[in-house]
Amino acid sequence: MVSNFYIPVEVFLGENATLKVGEVARRFGFKAVVITGKKSSKENGSLQKVLDSLKKHGISEVLIYDEVEPNPIDRNVNDAARLVVEEKVDLIIGLGGGSALDVAKAVSIVSSNEGSVWDYVKYPEGARLVPFYNRPVICIPTTSGTGSEVDRYSVVTNPIRKEKLVVSHSLNYPKVAIIDPLNTTSMSPYLTAVTGFDALTHALESLTNRADNFIAEEYSVKAIRIIAKWLPVAVNEPDNLEARKQMSYAAMLAGIAIDHLGVALIHTLEHPVSAHYPHVAHGVGLAILAPYVTKYNYEYRKDKYSLFAELMGYPSEPHKAVDSLVEFIDTLGLPKTLKDVGVEKEKLDRLTEDVYMLSRHSFIVNPREPKELDEIRELYESAYEGNL
Ligand code: NAP
Ligand code: FE
Repeated sequence: MVSNFYIPVEVFLGENATLKVGEVARRFGFKAVVITGKKSSKENGSLQKVLDSLKKHGISEVLIYDEVEPNPIDRNVNDAARLVVEEKVDLIIGLGGGSALDVAKAVSIVSSNEGSVWDYVKYPEGARLVPFYNRPVICIPTTSGTGSEVDRYSVVTNPIRKEKLVVSHSLNYPKVAIIDPLNTTSMSPYLTAVTGFDALTHALESLTNRADNFIAEEYSVKAIRIIAKWLPVAVNEPDNLEARKQMSYAAMLAGIAIDHLGVALIHTLEHPVSAHYPHVAHGVGLAILAPYVTKYNYEYRKDKYSLFAELMGYPSEPHKAVDSLVEFIDTLGLPKTLKDVGVEKEKLDRLTEDVYMLSRHSFIVNPREPKELDEIRELYESAYEGNL
């Protein structure tokens, strides 16, 4: 096996890293847009910190696009891209959770090329000339979960078709990630748990899937160890800065891991859930599905699941991976069934069909490759009823 490793993102990590944004932005131009969510960056003061730092370093014109919604939709990307083109913006700053960062990165691709965001889903590398200029993106996460600040993915929903799709391209990396744990202290315990569980699932799926990368798996291992120890602390003590720093670090490590190794069936099954039910946060869907998919998988990669169990503080046995997840989810107070979060039983067929239509190409990297669609339907059904 040959492992490769490449991450073209400069990272600043630490308390008050946000104050660096003006200095960093100056490298890229004088006119910036800040792409952010509707409320949280104003409420927690992170937007003001960014604006002050930009002003101090002579970024004379700053536009704000603050319409990004959780589980962002195509309109968010296309509208912000139009603004960037019309206003001849030099650089893009994504500030917020994974939704704002994913939009900021996709806006760079769409505004620097032609078309809509859908033209860049499954866009093959090298299929056209790389543009000589791709607007630089600075990502400033305010959650500790997605790892979007260091990876090449943007997850965007088509609200008409109710499809959540992934732009995955080397032009979609940000140039700089500014990771400041102080920006995450305003997260509620619940949001901390939800986003932290996303990071854990990235680490779990990148470690156990069949992509295999000796270098990048170490990032998954380290992330799992940190999250097992520090996520419950961050949930119970929102102002514990060490816990916030460890979670920001772990989310970044897990983001680097999925950039190299991808995810697997837990994510594949989650995407149709939050596409049809946008009120269900990505991390909530993952937490509901993770025990069921892990039970389905663990016999097929016993060594990796034993390692996962051990890193979670359990005996090093594959089936303990399931127990460790169930108990962790319980500790975090996350929902346990699809029924609990308002998924309708009659939608399970449609969710299954969407997995088949949109993501069956990903089955091959899952530890156990699903052969029949019934297997997917049964996983949804079990997660709906709570039959583990
Ligand atoms: P999010 O959808 O970005 O944000 C969820 C909620 O948290 C929003 O209401 C947001 O408010 C609020 N929020 C954000 N930061 C906060 C803070 N510091 N304090 C208080 N509230 C805060 O959540 P996320 O889990 O980070 O991102 C989820 C999205 O990322 C999903 O679409 C998922 O599919 C995608 N994702 C991407 C990747 C990737 O590799 N790129 C990986 C996994 C998931 P406002 O809207 O008001 O800001
Ligand atoms: Fe995720």
